[in-house]
Amino acid sequence: MLFVEFVLECRQVGTFTKNTEGVVLMAKTLMTVRRDGLRIITKRLSYTQQVMCSVTSLMGSASDPAELLGIAHYFEHMVFQGTKTRTREEIERDIRRYCISHNADTSFLRTRYYGECAKINFEKTLEVLLDIYCNPIFPEDRVENERGVIGTEISMRKNEEDILAFENFLVSLYGAKSLPGRGIIGTKETISTVNRNLLLDMHKTYYSPENSVIVVVGDVSHRDVVKNVNQFFPIGKPSAYRQRFDWPNDPDSPPAEPLVVDEKQGREYSRVYFACKIPSGSLRDRLVMNLLAKCLDRVIYDELRQKRGLVYTAGASDYYKRPLISTFYSCAQTEVHNFAQVRDILVDYVLNEKICESDFEIFRESKFVTSSIALETSREWNDAILSQIISGNSDLGFIDNYFEKISKVIEGITFDDLLKMRLELIREDRMSFSIVTNKD
Ligand SMILES: [Zn+2]
Repeated sequence: MLFVEFVLECRQVGTFTKNTEGVVLMAKTLMTVRRDGLRIITKRLSYTQQVMCSVTSLMGSASDPAELLGIAHYFEHMVFQGTKTRTREEIERDIRRYCISHNADTSFLRTRYYGECAKINFEKTLEVLLDIYCNPIFPEDRVENERGVIGTEISMRKNEEDILAFENFLVSLYGAKSLPGRGIIGTKETISTVNRNLLLDMHKTYYSPENSVIVVVGDVSHRDVVKNVNQFFPIGKPSAYRQRFDWPNDPDSPPAEPLVVDEKQGREYSRVYFACKIPSGSLRDRLVMNLLAKCLDRVIYDELRQKRGLVYTAGASDYYKRPLISTFYSCAQTEVHNFAQVRDILVDYVLNEKICESDFEIFRESKFVTSSIALETSREWNDAILSQIISGNSDLGFIDNYFEKISKVIEGITFDDLLKMRLELIREDRMSFSIVTNKD
């Protein structure tokens, strides 16, 4: 609670947020665009020891040709396998040494490598991240090794009912050939031809300075970050911007396939998604939808699990990967013999069940608190800055006030806004099913 009060006492003064004693707590977001196009963005939070560094290429699965689907994800695995100056073991050792946590993830429009560290280790962390980003060598034996690893990852996902149903829910809304529908990981066939030369080509094309964004949030100065980046990410020649993006998200078009069913013998439990596309719209629209989803989530969970004991999990949520995906979904998972009953209740509750104003008040308050806490966290700031950049918004003023804006907008949302949005968007003719179940 103290944490929250501390934030609320801060106020925006000139270019800095200061506390009542005038101590600078949070500086404006700063961006340097190098002459080769590399973007270096920092935000200084002077009250935390924790620094979050991310290095991102605006290359994701969108860049994968259909016959090589999964290569962007394969690439992400491969940068950890050795650089010009570090072996795989040395990369692992240095990450262990300097980072509190680290990871990499491939999305549709970007691939990100990040490390969270203590302030004293930020230069070393940035150096390792930039080394794997700028200098990977893709040793041939390691390419083969990862083919086995990723092959297992593919098999694992195919046999996970929850993952399968989730992926099929995107297929049902956007179509199997769409960017969201075709997925990121590929198939064993499409990854079978990935080789060292293809990876080196991709590196040259997509890991260029124009296609790269570096974000560092914590108690470090912009000047130090730029100095470090310049040392480890050599200034290159400007080249063309490479991000490929030709799958528009049209929230008004009907679902591509209103019913996608995956049946297999021997399954003991079933999973259903009942979902629709929604406009990704304004920040306000997204917050209204988020609160509406939480209210529906509560009544669905209460009925299916707490009152009837039919499911382990059930609920509703909003899901965005802007600018590509914006959806509302409800889902439930149950034993096969209860499936039809659970599906019917889920549909009925999503379309017809009353939501409560008292739930709304509680969720609105907790959302307010969550966004106040996010304002304090290096990781949350790093995510927020990057996701604005990925969705094409480089207005640093908007980014700076992002969490405060959320709090302000939430205050103005009413229960009526939720009812109106539900009436408009959560309609039977907009909905689609993804079902994973047993085959008799
Ligand atoms: Zn993976």
